[in-house]
Amino acid sequence: MLTIGAFAKACRLSPKALRLYDELDLLRPAKVDPDTGYRYYAVGQLERARLVAWLRRIGMPLARIREVAALDAEAAAGEIRTYWARVEAETAQRRDLAGFLVDHLSSAARTDPPVLGLRYAAHSDPGRVRPENQDTAYAGTRLLAVADGFGPEGAPVSSAAVAALRSLETREIPAGDVLNLLEETAHNATEAATADSGTTLTALLWTGSRLALVHIGDSRAYLLRDGGLFRITEDHTLVQSLIDEGRLTVEEASSHPQRTLLLKALGTTLPDLRLHDTRPGDRYLLCSDGLSSVVPDHRIRALLTSAATPEEAVRTLIAAANGAGGPDNVSCAVADVVEATDAVADAGDLAG
Ligand code: MG
Repeated sequence: MLTIGAFAKACRLSPKALRLYDELDLLRPAKVDPDTGYRYYAVGQLERARLVAWLRRIGMPLARIREVAALDAEAAAGEIRTYWARVEAETAQRRDLAGFLVDHLSSAARTDPPVLGLRYAAHSDPGRVRPENQDTAYAGTRLLAVADGFGPEGAPVSSAAVAALRSLETREIPAGDVLNLLEETAHNATEAATADSGTTLTALLWTGSRLALVHIGDSRAYLLRDGGLFRITEDHTLVQSLIDEGRLTVEEASSHPQRTLLLKALGTTLPDLRLHDTRPGDRYLLCSDGLSSVVPDHRIRALLTSAATPEEAVRTLIAAANGAGGPDNVSCAVADVVEATDAVADAGDLAG
């Protein structure tokens, strides 16, 4: 038997922590002297105590530690992996939010760099299989938007969501207010949703030097910059949350039977909001899952890179989705960031 002091030293927990874990039934002493109240621990308890100490060091809450400590080694390893994946996902979200706040607070003081503009095109295609097009795609001088409606009223709901955002196109918006306005507008657009119909919404609003992103659901926004393709949205789907938790690999997700199951859609929760710094030469793509579920990222990158204009990019991307069977409605909106004098629209197109 070890005294509490000796045991504490051996397992690197403080006597105070050991008394707390006793009270919480996390680590009971092997024996308590009935007269003095002194706690004694068995050498065989060291392993559990060390595990508790390590789990505390990675920040796991005590209630969860009690569950993990009761598992066999393999199951415990699985739980720790899941816990850590969740911590990383939450940290990433907080990092994004912190970045946004820094951005938001600095934007008031900043003078805008040389005037940039957009060249843009958008189109929505029913695909090869679906009888109706429930997607809506739009590109204008200040707005790119893609919405993927679902349910019996999917088409009017997705069209209403984009129409709500278009009301912002003609307004003078101070840079500091743009995210609030986007959130408010997205919120108003949820009135179009019904009990069994809804929509995704992914849109970029141009502030004159930067792009404000509003995003909910599994439509996507990509940035092609310096030859690299970066996805700047996160899918709000069941499979993406399983990937985040380490329960599913990206490869497994592509064939998961519930891969299209949305966790979030417009109106179910707050959308993601972010400001994006732009550079001349950037090419942005918004698309519905009718593109991204059948055309892999490397192919999207190749087609975006080789297209001379946004219009050509939209046309070839939609052709690629249809060439892969076109199982879903497919929508693309593409915009190039250019010096303002070069900003000419190729096409603004609305399909619902
Ligand atoms: Mg779709």
